[in-house]
Amino acid sequence: MMASSGLGAVPPIEFIDLGTQRRRLGARLDAAIMRVVDQGKYIMGPDVAELERQLAAYCGVKHALGVSSGTDALVLGLMAKSVRPGDAVFVPSFTFAATAEVVAWLGATPVFVDVHDDTFNIALSSLDAGLNTARKRGLRPVAVIAVDLFGQPADYDALDAFARREGLWLMADAAQSFGASYRGRKVGQIGEISATSFYPAKPLGCYGDGGAVFTNDDALAATMRSLRIHGQGSDKYDNVRIGINGRLDTIQAAILIEKLAIFPDEIVARQRVADRYAAALRDVAIVPRVEPDRTSVWAQYTIRLPGRDRNAIAARLGAAGVPTATHYPKPVHQQTAYRGFPVAGNGLPVSERLATEVLSLPMHPYLDEVSQDRVVAELRAALA
Ligand SMILES: *Cc1c(COP(=O)(O)O)cnc(C)c1O
Repeated sequence: MMASSGLGAVPPIEFIDLGTQRRRLGARLDAAIMRVVDQGKYIMGPDVAELERQLAAYCGVKHALGVSSGTDALVLGLMAKSVRPGDAVFVPSFTFAATAEVVAWLGATPVFVDVHDDTFNIALSSLDAGLNTARKRGLRPVAVIAVDLFGQPADYDALDAFARREGLWLMADAAQSFGASYRGRKVGQIGEISATSFYPAKPLGCYGDGGAVFTNDDALAATMRSLRIHGQGSDKYDNVRIGINGRLDTIQAAILIEKLAIFPDEIVARQRVADRYAAALRDVAIVPRVEPDRTSVWAQYTIRLPGRDRNAIAARLGAAGVPTATHYPKPVHQQTAYRGFPVAGNGLPVSERLATEVLSLPMHPYLDEVSQDRVVAELRAALA
């Protein structure tokens, strides 16, 4: 078991390798950063507007706003739509806590719904049950936040039809899926508002916190622009609404411009890695399913190991120099801070089961075949 960890002959595999990307970007990145440092326009400098133009063009959406994080992107969307106490916002429980956190910040109530076990994304049948739960509690159902978990877009046409029928609006938590597409539409142009994250480990990451919010609606874009800078009106010292400090740093925008240039190529590399994993593991584990009408950017490559001791397998891989991660060990509705919020119907059995089955493997565009074969071999040995 310890064969591959002796005396540094074989270096441990990186779960996400940002170093290789940094070396690839090389002097271009140094120059971009130093240009901002020397120019001195650290807040809302010209790179922010340039990045926003490039992001909007990339997604095919009218408005893209650079913001301080994915979490702030989500809350700006909710604030722009005036979400308030008494409102119910439906969120999947099998997600990162930020999806629900922003709802609670505004005094509204996150209502947790279940997901599909094959795509990990929000389940319509559970949304129906959630609507009943919310109404029984005397809450006003206003919105759905769909999460594109692990990089694959949710089923937006079905969600949109549901939302229209029930008078709800739809926001995409695309923190993990920037670059993916759904029925030929790029993430960013889907949903009334979409939010993404440029946290370093996301498919498109910066060197700190960052995010973006997207919409085709001019009025919503103008409101979010204002909210992002303390609710500013015609100038800096004119405050027309209560906002936040939600700006993206100029230096992060400059870094993202360089990274966006190689991103399409990285998405191809991610898909190649995912295809190799699927071919090598489908007979020993449940490999992730991507629906034929969409693409994933593989923020995570997450397999399921039902009936196996997932933690023991992870420990064995770790000892062999193969890092893994659990996304997510506990659904949000079971977290200490969120236990008091309502759940759809009689509980969320799929989210609870997935939390015991999932295991994420090393995934990044620079995972070479030799390293990937080592991940596969160690995993197969652990499962044998
Ligand atoms: C990362 C993430 C967020 C939060 O993004 P930050 O930039 O870290 O604030 C929100 N939702 C999901 C699903 C995420 O994965």
